[in-house]
Order: sequence, then C-alpha cells, then structure tokens
Amino acid sequence: MQERLILLTNDDGLWSPGLAALARVASRFGRVVTVAPDRNRSAISSALSLHNILRLQELDGERYACDGTPVDCVLVGTRNLLDRRPDWVLSGINTGFNLGEDVFYSGTVGAAFEGGMTGARAAAFSLHPEEDPARAEPWVELFLRRWESMDLPAGRIWNVNLPKGEPKGFRLAGQDRRMYHDSVEKRMDPRGIPYFWIGGSLPTYERSKGSDAEAVADGWVSLTPLRLDLACPEVMARGDEFDGVFNPHA
Ligand code: MN
Repeated sequence: MQERLILLTNDDGLWSPGLAALARVASRFGRVVTVAPDRNRSAISSALSLHNILRLQELDGERYACDGTPVDCVLVGTRNLLDRRPDWVLSGINTGFNLGEDVFYSGTVGAAFEGGMTGARAAAFSLHPEEDPARAEPWVELFLRRWESMDLPAGRIWNVNLPKGEPKGFRLAGQDRRMYHDSVEKRMDPRGIPYFWIGGSLPTYERSKGSDAEAVADGWVSLTPLRLDLACPEVMARGDEFDGVFNPHA
C-alpha cells in the first residue's frame, strides 16, 4: 500500500507550537508536508488570494512558509507541491476554540474545508487557549487512529475541539450558538483620525444540550461533523409551499 500522504496547515502561522504538536502526531501516520502561513492569519476564514502573487519559503524540504492565507496554503500544497492528492488534510492545532459560529470566521476551519473540497479526509483541531498543545497530542493521535473507521459523506469534515485538562473522552457534538456581545470601540489615533477596534472580551456560548461548547466545558473532546452544503434541508423539504408563495400562477 502507498504511504499515506498528509498535508498540514493552520492559521496561527508556521511557528505556532500547535502546528508543531500536530506535525509530531501526524508523522506517526505517514509522510507529512507542511504548508502554513508565514504569520498569524487567524479569523481569515476561507479567504483566497486572487489579486496578489504568493511566495513560498522552503525550510527543510517538507515544510514551507507561505505569505498567503490558510486556504492558499492548501491550494499551493495540493495543486502544485504534492504530486498527488493528499489522503489527509489536517489544520491546527489552533490556539483557542472554534465552537459554534466561530467556524465561519476561523481560518483553521476554512483550511480544513478546502482540504475536504479536494476530496481528502480533513479535520480542524482547536484547543483551549490556556492548554499546552503537547498535552493534546495523545488525544489527536487517538482521533487519527480511529477516524478512518467512521466514513463521512463527501463534503464533510470534522471540527475537533480539545478542552482544558485531561479529557474524559470523545463526544459527538452539534454546533452551539455564540453569544454576540462583541463590542466595536471607536478610538482616536495620534493624528486625531478615528479608528475602530473589534472585540474585547472572549466569546461565550449558549452551551446548549449536545453542543460542542457544552462538550468542551464538561471536559470532553468535541467532534462535530461539518458540511460544505449549507442549504437548509428543512426548508428544501417545503418545496410545495415555496411554489405557492413564489410562483403562485406558474
Ligand atoms: Mn488561529
């Protein structure tokens, strides 16, 4: 059998300790090639560089720093550097959770989605911001030992969040709701021109039953299957009603 080919990336940048931890674990499963942003590109979602060139800096044959986004890294890796499609695309380990609606902002999750689009088995890994990534390694390894036994349909990826402290185990979890209390502060720069600063306090979540946020708060590793197809199945099932409202005379 052909050696497993694994593409690694993240959004915290090539020098993030979370990426190093993921690389150590991944190397036990096959040949690992890392293409990661040359700086922190967190919260850049699935952004793609279409209006500027990309430069790649080779570190040691299997590791590359790219001046683009996490999705750029996956594209350069899969469409150019690698001679075949990777079997796995792994993204992370992110410093901080990606729970609930965070998945829409996250570059970590964006890169995993891109990996899923190439047809690879893909996952995003995120960790409590105060936890040491080295402590998450045995759990990431356990997940990677088992995930091939559970097939997901095409266009699905795993969003994995690891709690603080020793996990109790894995829990299949839905996507929670984020509580929106992000502030946007208006400040003045030294020249008297206003600027705006998004954020402030850390995000909080509803911790609804069965959700990812509840799982990590209770000390479990949350495993959330995410789909690229965002069309609402419950609305699609109301096709008759739709025609009555939008095409009444058709
Ligand atoms: Mn990040």
